[in-house]
This record gives sequence, C-alpha cells and structure tokens, in this order.
Amino acid sequence: MTETAYIALGSNLDNPQQQVLRAIIELEALPDTHVTAVSPWYSSPPMGPADQPDYINGVAKLETTLPPLPLLKALQGIESTHHRVKLEHWGPRTLDLDILLYGNQVIDLPELRIPHAEMATRNFVLFPLADIAPQLVLPDGISLAELLESCPPEGIVRHSQGGIRGTTG
Ligand code: AMP
Repeated sequence: MTETAYIALGSNLDNPQQQVLRAIIELEALPDTHVTAVSPWYSSPPMGPADQPDYINGVAKLETTLPPLPLLKALQGIESTHHRVKLEHWGPRTLDLDILLYGNQVIDLPELRIPHAEMATRNFVLFPLADIAPQLVLPDGISLAELLESCPPEGIVRHSQGGIRGTTG
C-alpha cells in the first residue's frame, strides 16, 4: 500500500546545500518511492556548540510502498554515503534524515519513533513542513498550525525554493 511520509533533511558540513540536494535525488531513487514535494530550504543556527556552521534544513514529501523500518534502513543507507568527507577518513555527520510522519501511523520501537520525538518543538522542521503540508494534522489530532503557534521562527531564515545561497557553511 502506498503511504505518504514526510522526511526531515539537515546538514551543516561539507557543502550542506549540495548534501541536501543530492539527498533529494537519492530519495527519488529509492525503490517504490517518489518525492512529490520539497519544501523551501531554511538555514538555522546549530543546536549544539555555536562554533560550527549553520544548518540547512528542509522537508520532503514521499509517496512510498516501503514499510517504515525498511524506509528507515534506506534513509540510513543514504546517510552513510554522505559521511565520507575525505578518502579513508570518516568525517562528522554531513546529512541527517529523519522520518517525521508515516501516514497516520504511530510507531514506538527502540529504533523508530513516529511521529518523530522532537518534531513538535523544532521550528526548523515545523516551518518547512507547513510550507508543503499546511493542513496537516498529526495522528494524535493536533494540527500543525497549533504546533506552530508555540514554536516561533526564531533564528531560522527561509530561502526561496532552489535558492539557498547566502547561508554559512
Ligand atoms: P539521529 O541521527 O541523531 O537523528 O538519530 C538516529 C537514531 O534515531 C537512529 O538510531 C534511529 O534508529 C533513531 N530513530 C528513532 N526514530 C527515528 C525516526 N523517526 N527517524 C529517524 N531515526 C529515528
């Protein structure tokens, strides 16, 4: 059965703009999967130590017949191809892919929680998600619009679709 899934993308290393654009192509290449929407890209300050580049964040909408765990494995496979920053050295994380939502399913496994555990409090996830799915309602009945009310866009900068120049990193 085909389901709609929303995937959060993030990168702050090794040319983040290219990392996320390449990831979209790789998502489209997954078996039985189509990318049907891509949000504008946002830049956001890093959550951890401040002495690192800003992040590029966005959300992709997929139509897929991959079940949730195989989809997670496929995303981890894509992430792993982005980790190598120099030959023979494994660099720090260059791409993060998270499953935000998978249809209306609630999944609570050690390796997979859907809806994603932190999505409700992350403005750099909620705003791009709202760009492509403004009417979305989460499985618990809370609307995306309600979540946005308590999650101001502080620190994030929205860039036009396909235009992510001017970001640091
Ligand atoms: P991180 O790369 O820091 O976002 O975390 C990766 C870990 O989160 C992996 O071990 C996944 O199994 C786990 N995980 C739990 N829920 C999710 C989800 N909804 N999407 C992606 N990874 C998840």
